[in-house]
Formats: sequence, structure tokens, C-alpha cells
Amino acid sequence: MADDAYIEYMTRQVDQFREQGRWVLGPDVSFMVRGARFDEDGIYLDYDVEPGPGKRGLVDLPDRRVLMELLARTYHVRSKWADRETGRDRRLPPESWDELVMRHFPVYRCGLAVGAGWGDLLMATADWIGEVDPYYPGFVDVKDKMGGLELAGPVSDVDIVDDIIASAEQLSEFICEVCGKPGWNRDGRTVCRDHE
Ligand SMILES: [Zn+2]
Repeated sequence: MADDAYIEYMTRQVDQFREQGRWVLGPDVSFMVRGARFDEDGIYLDYDVEPGPGKRGLVDLPDRRVLMELLARTYHVRSKWADRETGRDRRLPPESWDELVMRHFPVYRCGLAVGAGWGDLLMATADWIGEVDPYYPGFVDVKDKMGGLELAGPVSDVDIVDDIIASAEQLSEFICEVCGKPGWNRDGRTVCRDHE
């Protein structure tokens, strides 16, 4: 039987995903979160988003479906760390998170000069790219520029890879660099309320 604490954890993730997705998409895009399911590997969010390119002001953003799928995958990665007994969120070890990510995802061929809070996003990004383009040569520069993630690497022959990369860069502006909770870019640093 499913653990109550984990169900509560999942419910919190659903609410958080709904709110964060709304921040990312803006108020005019149709976006509905139905719920989530889980297995031994973590949680999977169930949602619908109106297709089409995202837009913020005059800036073109990646396809909304890719954007939200990457966000959902980031929640899935984070849920692997959650404590099943207590339903408590856990973080990547701040002192060694980058070694861990690089060991599991050789697509990062350089140091990860960003905060630990983006670790789940980086793992979800690498995981998805690995699925669609297993021969992608990898990133040569990963850095934080004014509170936004920048991933530098060759252009892939697989179209969706560009959108995945652009989505990771876009989503980073809504994920606290320190702890991975929903955040905002404030004066060139993306942080949650606790890390302002
Ligand atoms: Zn934070």
C-alpha cells in the first residue's frame, strides 16, 4: 500500500508544479495539471498545455510542450531524492552534487559553474537529450549568466534538442540556484524566498 507521507509529498509537488508552470507560461496560456502517479522510480506529473511557441514580451521561447515536459521531468528527477518514509524533500549534496551529475551524465564535458539548485534540471536535460540524440557530443561550457543557465554545445541534427536546451535555459530563471525550489530572477540571481 502506498505510503501516506509520500502521497502528501506528491500532492505538494502537483501544487508546486501548477504554480510554477503558471509563472513560466504566463496567465494567457491554457495549462491544466490533472494530478500525478508514482512508481518506485519517482513521481510522474499528468498535465495538459496548449501547444505553440512560448512568448514573453518580444522574446521567442521554446515550444511550450517541451518547456513543460522538461519541467515535469525535473520534478521527476527531484522526486527520486524524496524521503519515502517522511515525504520530505531532499537535496543533492551541495558539496559534491556536480561530481555526481557529471559521473552519471557524461554529456557534461566541462565543470558545472552553477548552483546545486539547478542539479535536477541539468540531470533531466541530460537524460532527455540522451533519449533523443544518444550521440550528442556534449556541452563544453555550463555557466550562470545573470541568474540564467547557459549551456554551450554543438547544434544537434535532432530538432527537439535545441528546444530542450532553450527550455533548460528558460526554466532556470524560475528555479532557485541554491535549493531547487521555485524562484525568480532578482537582480541577476535566481532564488526562492528562503535564499533572497
Ligand atoms: Zn532556495
